[in-house]
Amino acid sequence: MNFSSPAEPFVGSDPVVSVVVPFLDEVDTLPILHQRIVEELSGTAHEIIFVDDGSRDGGTELCAQLARSHRNVSFISFRRNFGKSAALSAGFREARGDIIITMDADLQDDPAELPRFIAAIQEGADVVCGWKKRRLDPRSKTWPSKFFNAIANATFGLKLQDHNCGFKAFRAEAVADLNLYGELHRFIPALLHARGFRLQELAVQHHPRTFGKSKFGWRRFVKGALDLLTVSLTTRYAARPLHIFGAAGMFLMIAGGLVLSYLTALWLLDMGPIGDRPLLMLGVLMELFGVQLVSTGLIAELVLSSSIREDQKYLVRTRIPAGPVQNTREPGS
Ligand code: UDP
Ligand code: MG
Repeated sequence: MNFSSPAEPFVGSDPVVSVVVPFLDEVDTLPILHQRIVEELSGTAHEIIFVDDGSRDGGTELCAQLARSHRNVSFISFRRNFGKSAALSAGFREARGDIIITMDADLQDDPAELPRFIAAIQEGADVVCGWKKRRLDPRSKTWPSKFFNAIANATFGLKLQDHNCGFKAFRAEAVADLNLYGELHRFIPALLHARGFRLQELAVQHHPRTFGKSKFGWRRFVKGALDLLTVSLTTRYAARPLHIFGAAGMFLMIAGGLVLSYLTALWLLDMGPIGDRPLLMLGVLMELFGVQLVSTGLIAELVLSSSIREDQKYLVRTRIPAGPVQNTREPGS
C-alpha cells in the first residue's frame, strides 16, 4: 500500500483494491453481489467492506455471516439508519486499499465494470465517477437528477453528466478524511474537485432495480438542494472559510458608503436637509453591520487559523521531502 508519487500511474506494482458497499435493506442481493465481485476481482488483491446502514430485513445477520466465512470481507453495522453518506465515510475509514471503489448493493451497478474503474485509476485519474448513461430508473428519479446535475455543474464549474452515481473509484488519499454526512455523498465530485483532485467520468451499464425498492425520493432531493448551498459556499471558500464574513461585511460597507456619500453630496449641494430621509438610516446601519462583520471575521480567522493550516495538506500533490540531516561535526572536535 505504498506508492511514492500519487500522481503517477502504478507502474510495476499491483494495487490493493477496497470495494465499499453501503446497504440498507438489501438482503436479497448481498450474496449475489458478493459472488459477482469476487469473480470480477479474482486476479486482484482485494477486500470487500459491507456497511450496513441500519437494515431490518435480516441483511445484518446474513452479512455478518459472509464476513465470518470470508477472510477478505469486512462488515460494519450501524446502530440505526444514518444515511448513505455516513455509511460511505465509515467504509472509507475502514478501507486499506490503494484504490477504493464504492458501489450500490442493489445490483443496479454491474460488478463487470470493476476492472475498468481500476484501469482508469492506474492510468492516472485520482477520481473516476460512474455515469449511468442509459439510466434505467423511473422518470420521477431521472428528471430531478438531470436538474440537480445541471445546477451542480453551474455552481462548481464542473462538466459532469452524473454527480450522484454510486459507482466511483478513488485513489486512497482522495477520500482520506472525507467526512460525509447528511446528503453530502451527492457532492463527492464537487468536494474532491475543490481539493484539487483530477476527476474523470466513465460511462457504465446500469440495470433496473429487480430486488427491493429505492430508498431515495423527493424528501431526500429537497435535503440535497439545501446542502448544495452549504457545499457551494464551503468549497468556494475552502481555503479561507471565514472570508465569507469578510466578503459580506465588505459588501455592506461599500454599499453603505455609497448611500452615505450620496446623502453627503446632497447636503453639500444644499439640496435640503437629509436628517429625515429613510436612506440615512439604511446607510448608517449597513456601515455599522459591515464594520462588525469584517472585524468578527478577522477575529474568527485569527482564532481558527490553526485548523485552516490543517487543510493545506490537500493542496499538495507531490511532496519530495529533504533527506536526513547529516551530522557534519567531526568526532572529537
Ligand atoms: N442506502 C444506504 N442508506 C440509505 C439509503 C440507501 O446505505 O439511507 C444504500 C442502498 O441500500 C443502495 C445504495 O445506497 O445500496 C443506493 O440506494 P438506492 O438504490 O435506493 O438509490 P437509487 O439507485 O434509487 O438512487
Ligand atoms: Mg439503486
